[in-house]
Amino acid sequence: GFKCGIVGLPNIGKSTIFNAITSAGAESANYPFCTIEPNVGVVAVPDKRLDALATIVDPERVLPTTIEFVDIAGLVKGASKGEGLGNQFLGNIRQVDAIAHIVRCFDDTNVVHVDGDVDPLRDIEVIQTELNLADLDTVEKRIIRSQKLAKSGDKKLQFEVEILERVQACLNEGRPARSLGLTAEEYQVIDDLHLITVKPVLYVANVAEDDLNGEHDFAKKVQAHAESEGAQFVAICGKIEAEVAELEEDEKIEFLNELGLRESGLDRMIQAGYKLLGLITYFTAGKKEVRAWTVTDGSKAPAAAGVIHTDFEKGFIRAEVIGYDDYIASSGETGAKEKGLMRLEGKEYLVVDGDVMHFRFNV
Ligand code: GDP
Repeated sequence: GFKCGIVGLPNIGKSTIFNAITSAGAESANYPFCTIEPNVGVVAVPDKRLDALATIVDPERVLPTTIEFVDIAGLVKGASKGEGLGNQFLGNIRQVDAIAHIVRCFDDTNVVHVDGDVDPLRDIEVIQTELNLADLDTVEKRIIRSQKLAKSGDKKLQFEVEILERVQACLNEGRPARSLGLTAEEYQVIDDLHLITVKPVLYVANVAEDDLNGEHDFAKKVQAHAESEGAQFVAICGKIEAEVAELEEDEKIEFLNELGLRESGLDRMIQAGYKLLGLITYFTAGKKEVRAWTVTDGSKAPAAAGVIHTDFEKGFIRAEVIGYDDYIASSGETGAKEKGLMRLEGKEYLVVDGDVMHFRFNV
């Protein structure tokens, strides 16, 4: 599955948010929530389109798609040098596909801040420095090794050293490796290093109870920082989300309405995480089940079929596709067919977010 790691300094609300996410996941739709390990939670990705499809089809069951959140503890000043849970922390974070960086934006004298006072930009800087140092260490070790090997005149290795030195310079300037904007070909060369700072980042401002829309200076600063990096941003209040997560669906809507919110912050965070991972959704819709499936943006029809079953990909013949809006506007498959809105697509078809698909394959 696709994984989004949650990082942040101690005492900024990471566990509160992680617990809210996982307990919300437990009750959302009827997906069997599971905790793989204490720090890993599989959560349903909320998607209103799934409900709309289910209303039309009236299936036996509805299954949303999921992503995993991993609570990565142990990031403190000096983690890159093995302080705190340093090494374990770095091992965990290398394995995720994207990073949700939680930043404390609430003031509360009852909750001690590790550095004395609340200062979101300083906190971001502390974390970025640790991640940069960890990557720098990885890159420098590889440079030494590859330089030796490249002496034989191997063009591929020389190219690798060239890329590594660019990454090194970038990290030395205090910028994350993702800011280099490497081409896919260049990126391929360093892929196996599992660098942390190439992973896409979502900044999550953990705001105070009286600042739910993130209008306060603290959250605004984080948002501006995220924009300057081309990163994603959401503001949520961990404390309130923890309360929301405990409620039944109808109570939840009422509670959110009272707060003047249309959806829970967690839903926004999960959706942002999904987008951050470069994922899109297609649907299958039948009497037995209406279901959302995840593919990476840019996937072709056979790969999408393979998400359901490898045999679907191997024996792929064609896909019957109805665009989501067409499906809804035609009140379902029969209507869409009558209007000629069902397309037959082949192996080169690029899946569009929201497609309702049916695969034909050889067994
Ligand atoms: P972690 O160390 O980052 O995992 O932080 P925790 O989730 O354990 O939270 C640390 C403390 O901050 C706890 O006492 C929480 O109740 C409190 N806390 C978390 N989120 C909020 C929030 O949005 N507002 C306020 N006032 N307190 C919060």
